Amino acid sequence: MASAAAVAADPVALQELVEDAVVWASQHGLLVGLGIDDPACAAVHAPLALLPVPYPRETFEQAKQAALAFNSMIDAVAADEAYLQEVLAAAAQEDEFMARLLRVFRETADVRHARQAVGQERLLAVLRSDYMLHAPTNSLLQVELNTIASSFGCLSTLVARMHRYLLGRLGASPAELAALPEHNAMNAIVDAMGAAVADYGTPGGVMVMVVQPGERNAYDQQWLQTRLWERHGVRTLRRTLAQIAAEGQLGADGRLTIGGRPVALVYFRAGYTPTDYPSEAEWAARVLVECCDAYKCPTVAYQLAGAKKIQQDLARPGVVERYAASPADAQLLRRFFAGQWGLEDLADADTAAVVAHAIANPDQYVLKPQREGGGNNFYGAALAERLRQGGPGLAAYILMQRIQPPPQRAIMVRRGQAAEADTLSELGVYSTYVRRGSQVMLSAEAGHLVRTKAATSDEGGVAAGFAVLDSPLLV
Ligand code: ADP
Ligand code: MG
Ligand code: MG
Repeated sequence: MASAAAVAADPVALQELVEDAVVWASQHGLLVGLGIDDPACAAVHAPLALLPVPYPRETFEQAKQAALAFNSMIDAVAADEAYLQEVLAAAAQEDEFMARLLRVFRETADVRHARQAVGQERLLAVLRSDYMLHAPTNSLLQVELNTIASSFGCLSTLVARMHRYLLGRLGASPAELAALPEHNAMNAIVDAMGAAVADYGTPGGVMVMVVQPGERNAYDQQWLQTRLWERHGVRTLRRTLAQIAAEGQLGADGRLTIGGRPVALVYFRAGYTPTDYPSEAEWAARVLVECCDAYKCPTVAYQLAGAKKIQQDLARPGVVERYAASPADAQLLRRFFAGQWGLEDLADADTAAVVAHAIANPDQYVLKPQREGGGNNFYGAALAERLRQGGPGLAAYILMQRIQPPPQRAIMVRRGQAAEADTLSELGVYSTYVRRGSQVMLSAEAGHLVRTKAATSDEGGVAAGFAVLDSPLLV
């Protein structure tokens, strides 16, 4: 089958294939906003890998099989309020955003507990567990687990289709095309949303999608809206936190209305980063949503459970085992945990030893703050420098073993321009979960995503401009 190197070696064929890809992407809504004017009318094809990346089948299936075990483990973690508060306390002392989220969590406890007591807590989870293959041990290790604003479910569905089309154009046989795993994250996510809205049960109930003003990744979001309407007849209102603060009305019965419409589900594609809360109004909106009786994706508890600090704590002996649904689940999940260390007690001998090792070997580690959205981590010399500075501020970070994926040749296409490079790929597996009280309505694996970045780039992140959307070709 056509390899990236072979395609890149023939400039005429390459140009044709790039044009095919760009046209297909435009024809099928595989788009991102240009970031100028109104993104709804100024779009460009999403950053793409021209061909799917070879990926070991067994590893891919391992990641998919873990989806339900992660669903139940995270649900158990999010339900343990004392655990969340205890583990996040030191980080919150040094990180205002984490402190504020915890404050919202505490301030809404009475409402939450009252609702839990009558079995009416409503939550939808759209998780994305991200992995990279660690070449030295040939094992798949988790980069992070996203519990809020897990993005690209729709565009990843489209990229897989585009790759099938392009390989077909290159003459791939049906047997070769069978190596492209089928998935439909778009419909899977939308069906979970539809199930939540249906269970809420109020005629005319809408989904509110909480968005950032000027979002460039709007098409990935708009696809959810369109499909939610087509498959489930549910309307979506796109609102910023500031707009929710201005328009939201919380009734004494816990019902939230926006512009007079009953809200059945609040789905956050914003609210995960401090800049989403420029004033008290945005925090007030977050509290309003947390206190209403609609389905939330996610609750504040889920957002906290997705903190890097929690992932690091789960990696400690016995902790995954405590929250996994069964010993078999624990065993399944345990193998994905990379080495991770907390930095709240720098005087501790084990911590001091790993910090010294990281300062001497910074390329074997990543230093991560309690942030989401890409572009926040420290690598290499900057990592060593930050560790050398020391100080209590480090409690807001975790130190993580650097995962070393095998480099692969790929052609990345941005704004119609192709560039061949050595690249590294990150696999994401979506899962959905709908629960009311103790009733789990849905727990499902929900498709996948591959993002590929230049091997010379430390960070990934398509939206952040480092990576391209890709899909796996199972080998
Ligand atoms: P965010 O929530 O901001 O996406 P991540 O933990 O996913 O945070 O880190 C961002 C990117 O940094 C990842 O997509 C990956 O490319 C890189 N990265 C994070 N952790 C590691 C690690 N342990 N080893 C190698 N690269 C990592
Ligand atoms: Mg993240
Ligand atoms: Mg990430």
